[in-house]
Amino acid sequence: MKPVRTRIAPSPTGYLHLGTARTALYSWAYARHHGGQFVLRIEDTDVARSTQESTEQILDAMRWLGLDYDEGPIHQMSRLERYREVAEQLIAAGHAYRCWCTPEELDAMREAQRARGDKTRYDGRWRPAPGKQLPPPPAGVQPVVRLANPLHGAVSWNDLVKGPITIANEEIDDLVILRSDGVPTYNFAVVVDDWDMRITHVYRGDEHINNTPWQINILRAIAGPDVEPPRYGHCPIILGEDGLKLSKRRGAVSVTAYRELGYLPEAMLNYLARLGWSHGDDEIFTRAQMVQWFDGSHLARSPAQWDPAKLAWVNAQWMKRGDDARLAALVQEQLAGRGVAGADAATLARMAALFKDRCTTLVELADWAAMLYLPVAPRAQDLAEHVGEAVKPALRALRERLAEVAWEAAPIAAAVKAVLAEHGLKMPQLAPALRVLVCGRAQTPSIDAVLALFARDVVLQRLQHV
Ligand code: GLU
Repeated sequence: MKPVRTRIAPSPTGYLHLGTARTALYSWAYARHHGGQFVLRIEDTDVARSTQESTEQILDAMRWLGLDYDEGPIHQMSRLERYREVAEQLIAAGHAYRCWCTPEELDAMREAQRARGDKTRYDGRWRPAPGKQLPPPPAGVQPVVRLANPLHGAVSWNDLVKGPITIANEEIDDLVILRSDGVPTYNFAVVVDDWDMRITHVYRGDEHINNTPWQINILRAIAGPDVEPPRYGHCPIILGEDGLKLSKRRGAVSVTAYRELGYLPEAMLNYLARLGWSHGDDEIFTRAQMVQWFDGSHLARSPAQWDPAKLAWVNAQWMKRGDDARLAALVQEQLAGRGVAGADAATLARMAALFKDRCTTLVELADWAAMLYLPVAPRAQDLAEHVGEAVKPALRALRERLAEVAWEAAPIAAAVKAVLAEHGLKMPQLAPALRVLVCGRAQTPSIDAVLALFARDVVLQRLQHV
């Protein structure tokens, strides 16, 4: 048995797409499950569209998700020599050939095929064949290199997701493997890399199913007809809520966007994993459980639908389970983004403990935390409803007591009780008024614990003008 080696091979032409993150997760979990290795490869051969910024965003998203890799990032553009070397070997062995067709010629070829009602494909005019006389290479044209795809037979593989697939060689043509500038095409670079990097299992989006027969043929040309290709698993696309392909126009498609919306990485992983894979009825599972359970089985064959409400629910579950100190650190980052510097970590941790149950995202938790540091703006309606003349004397008395008590939940609670008794009020009359004035909202957890989170001065100041 070869050691399991998987990879994820994003193209740095944008953010890490949710679909890519999902196959990255499957590849990572599969490798970890088998004690194998996971490789990160940056497929940057689309020179015009690849950017360093995108590479950094992808690495950042991988780090955030905690998808650690054992090798990489390996950039394809640093391996050009290797692709050229393999292309030369294929030419020498008769598995590839140079083609001097100009773009105009190829256009004319396709035009004529369309006019005849044929499928458009390269017609093999530069493909060597016994007894065939090739024209002399035209001057001034840089050739491309094409695969001499087998003319007959079929390519079959047992897809890890879709089951057995067979595609006839007649269906596919002699694709370009090296462009005229010496840069490999995706299908060629991917095969050389998967081979050199000893990749055993490939999980990727099913838009690549049609590329797979070429890739298997290229691999056979490189390594011989009996070579064992990687096992391929093609995961169905993720559909948007409207049943169409998830796309930028219809909401966030990048991992980074969800980070900014206040989602936790463990919730993202959990949700992405479930989106196309199941383990019984389990909905909430840890990274360790995923590694333990993910053996490549139970992958869905039909497309999953992106469900923001479910993602929010999963995130809320992880917020509830979140460690207070960690949530505090994450909220601190959120607050820093809102101009609140130096929010006290211990206070934020106590705040997280009190509020995390009622928050779907870190942004919501930070919305709560902000009341400790930034002015609040109670709604006129809440003021009218909860801060009537009847409670104002009690609020003033409480303010005086609060100026004196030890600043902790229990003495604060005692002060509130004493004022209630003095003024013949009940908690449901006083607490909402306090909440509205101090927190800016009429509903919060236990008011004494909440007040204790604030700096005393802030509370006194917010009760000043009643
Ligand atoms: N760069 C390709 C993509 O992002 C990789 C596909 C593959 O995994 O082979 O779609």
